[in-house]
Amino acid sequence: MTKHKLIFASSNQDKIREVQNKMPNSIQVISMREMGFKGEIIEDGLTIEQNAKIKADTLYKRYKTNCFGDDTGLMVDHLDGRPGVFSARYAGENCSYNDNVKKLLKALKGATNRKAHFKTVISLWWEDSYYDFVGRIDGTITEEAAGQDGFGYDPIFKPDGHEQTFAEMSMDLKNRISHRAIAVQKLIEFIHQKSS
Ligand code: IMP
Repeated sequence: MTKHKLIFASSNQDKIREVQNKMPNSIQVISMREMGFKGEIIEDGLTIEQNAKIKADTLYKRYKTNCFGDDTGLMVDHLDGRPGVFSARYAGENCSYNDNVKKLLKALKGATNRKAHFKTVISLWWEDSYYDFVGRIDGTITEEAAGQDGFGYDPIFKPDGHEQTFAEMSMDLKNRISHRAIAVQKLIEFIHQKSS
């Protein structure tokens, strides 16, 4: 069996763990740090699509090999789609996941419409051509944080059709239904199709 190697333009261990967990044996994901990439990639795009592409392009230019980047945003209806592309820095530069959660709960205090969705875009360079894949999951922002697992906004995001927040679910379940899981699944199917 051919083993495909893909470099992942992320140094976020939470995301790397989720993505590696979902990959079949036929695809080996190598993080950019494992490749020796030292710097940070400046995410100065105006959209999730642009940021995902900036990350993938940076690695492609450096290594000229199969690689991908991803970007995710949490879009909250009551906030007209914010924090969106600014999800990581919602509570300010160098803020913690918990700072973001607290700021979002405050912004939604008393709000009746608590609908939100996560969107992930994966940008892929595959055999010198560029592709992208999108994953989305709809849900609601809870009134308070619940659960210890996951990362980011997981303690306050309850996907539609489920009684638990992402942070209360097993990684296995989150990794079957999440925005990132949907986009990664599309990436896997694409690679299988290309190499069959
Ligand atoms: P990134 O651009 O993919 O690193 O995601 C931006 C921010 O969105 C992260 O810093 C997290 O706060 C949040 N985020 C991304 N993915 C998830 C997730 O699966 N669950 C909860 N929050 C997430």
